[in-house]
Amino acid sequence: MKRIILHWSGGKYTPSSVDIEHYHFLSDGNGQIIKGKYNPEDNLNCQDGKYAAHCGGYNTGSIGIALCAMYGYKSPTSQGNYPFLRVQAEAMFAYCATLLKKYQLTPTKQCVMTHYEVGKMLPNSTSAGKIDITFIPYEPKLNKDEVGDYIRNKVRWYYER
Ligand SMILES: [Zn+2]
Repeated sequence: MKRIILHWSGGKYTPSSVDIEHYHFLSDGNGQIIKGKYNPEDNLNCQDGKYAAHCGGYNTGSIGIALCAMYGYKSPTSQGNYPFLRVQAEAMFAYCATLLKKYQLTPTKQCVMTHYEVGKMLPNSTSAGKIDITFIPYEPKLNKDEVGDYIRNKVRWYYER
C-alpha cells in the first residue's frame, strides 16, 4: 500500500451500508474502528471493480478511513447536528498510525493525506472540491489548509509512541 486517505462520511455516527463499501475502515461516534467490505489490498488493483472507491483518481494503492459524521454539514457556520467528535477522530489517528507501521509507511504528507488535499493535488479528478477534511469541529480556529498538518501531527504522535 502506498498511502492513507482520511475522510468524513457525510453521514451520521454509525456507518451506512454504502459507507461500508466505500471505505476500508470507519471510526464511529464511539471511536470504534469498523472494518469495511474490502481489504486495503483490494485497492492494489482497481481494474476489476472489486475495491473500495473512496478517492476518485487516487484509489490505486490508497487505504481509505472515514469518520462517521458530518451529515448536514455545509460550512463552519452551518455544521449540522453530527459534528465529528474528538473521541472518534483520535481513534482514527491512532489506527492510522497502526496502519502506517503495518504497511511500512511514514507519517508524512506523501503517505497521509485528507481527501481535500488529494482534490487540490488532482484538480481534474472527481476528488476536486471535496471538503473532507477541512474543518475540525472541536478545533474551529484551524483553517482548511491547516487541518491536514494538524492531523499528521496527531498521527505522528501515535506513530512515535
Ligand atoms: Zn472523502
